[in-house]
Order: sequence, then C-alpha cells, then structure tokens
Amino acid sequence: KRNHNQQVDKMNVLSDLAASFAHEIRNPMTVARGFMQILKQPDISEDKRNLYTSMVVEEIDKAQSIVNDYLAFAKPQLEAIELVDAKALIQQALQSIEPYAKLCRVEVETELEDKMIISANKEKFVQCMVHLFKNGIEAMPGGGRLRIIGTVQSRSVCIDIIDHGVGMTPEEIRRLGTPFYSTRDKGTGLGMMVTFRVIQTIRGKIDVTSEVGKGTCFSLMIPTLHTTSYH
Ligand code: ADP
Repeated sequence: KRNHNQQVDKMNVLSDLAASFAHEIRNPMTVARGFMQILKQPDISEDKRNLYTSMVVEEIDKAQSIVNDYLAFAKPQLEAIELVDAKALIQQALQSIEPYAKLCRVEVETELEDKMIISANKEKFVQCMVHLFKNGIEAMPGGGRLRIIGTVQSRSVCIDIIDHGVGMTPEEIRRLGTPFYSTRDKGTGLGMMVTFRVIQTIRGKIDVTSEVGKGTCFSLMIPTLHTTSYH
C-alpha cells in the first residue's frame, strides 16, 4: 500500500513537472523565434545580426539545459552506478567551469583528499558539481573566492562548497530545489532540483548554511565504501 502510494506520488510529481516543463521550454523557443524573424529582414546591420544570432544560440542552449535537467530528474534509475573517486570527478567538473569562473573573476581554491570513493553515476555526479560550483560563482557577481573542500570520514565522503556571495534568507533556502525556482535572468531553476535528486539516489544528503550578504556553504555527505578496519 505504502509503496503504491509512493509510486502514485512520484507519477504526480513527474506529470506536474512535465506540464511546467513544457511551459518553460516554450519561453526560450518563443524568444528564439522572434529573433529569427528579425534576422530574416534583409536590411539588418552586421552588428545587430551578430547580436541576435548569439541571442538565438543562448535561448536554444537554455531550452537544451531544461531538457537535460528534466531527464536527469525523471530517469535517475536508468543510469549506471559504479565505484568512482569523487576527487577526480570534482576536478573534471572544475575543468569545465574554469573558463566561466575566470570570466566572473572568481578564484577557485580546492583542498581535496585522495580516495574519496563513492558509488555514483559519473556524468550525473559531475553535473551536480557543476551546478553547485556555478551557483557559488553566480552568487558573487563582483568576483571572489570559491572554496571546495573534500574529506574522507569514517562512513562518508564530505564535500563542502563555500562562497562568500549574496547568501539566502531561510525562506529562500526552503525554496531551493523547487522546480523552476530561480532568482536569475538566465536561470532555469532546475539545478538544485536535479542536484538534490541525484545525491538522494546515492543515499547522500545536502545541508545548506547561508547568511544574506555573507555567503553560503553547501555540505554534501555521501556514504563511502571502506574496505579497511572492518576485520
Ligand atoms: P538557477 O541556478 O538556474 O537559478 P538553481 O536551482 O541552481 O537554479 O538555484 C535556484 C536559486 O537558488 C538561484 O536562482 C538562487 O537564487 C539560489 N541559490 C542557489 N545557490 C546559491 C548560492 N550559492 N548562493 C545564493 N543563492 C543561491
């Protein structure tokens, strides 16, 4: 009975989400379509053409990330879970976010222990890290320092992502992970939803400490697999 109810709940969440998802994807498509229509005009200047073309690309990228995030949320069980070193995956995520960090004048500092072994899906874990790093960077519009600390404890791998950015009120923290909740122009409001979901599927948990004007710390605790000291 309980199982059945949980199943129904999940179906409701997914279909509600599909409805708002359809709505959200329509916005960038409408905007891109508008720009394309302008681009069709023969007398448009070179500058405007370049500007509108890059705006079309931006809107298409946005639609694409909404699709990616939705799929990551809807089908986490279909992905291969394997033993991975979170350190290597964090470094991989950092590599892809580095140009963006530079652009935003954010310096990234890492302290990562070796052998942060967890079981996870590689791509999904990297995707979560990128979301969290990107959020930290975007919380510091004037630039700053993002710290990423990874430690191995007796039963879990701990990952702290610390920014000194705008911070959040308790109400804003509460809304984190709600589909399409975003305070950003270019945000999809799906990053945290996906991140909570993926970390939950590997039985990890996420704590958020934040203070307005001071910054935010996301603390992830993910069960580790230890082979030592049990016999
Ligand atoms: P998006 O980044 O697309 O807006 P997210 O789900 O990743 O979507 O984040 C939702 C909202 O949570 C953000 O728009 C922002 O208001 C808030 N948020 C997330 N991370 C942070 C952070 N590190 N500092 C301050 N606010 C944050």
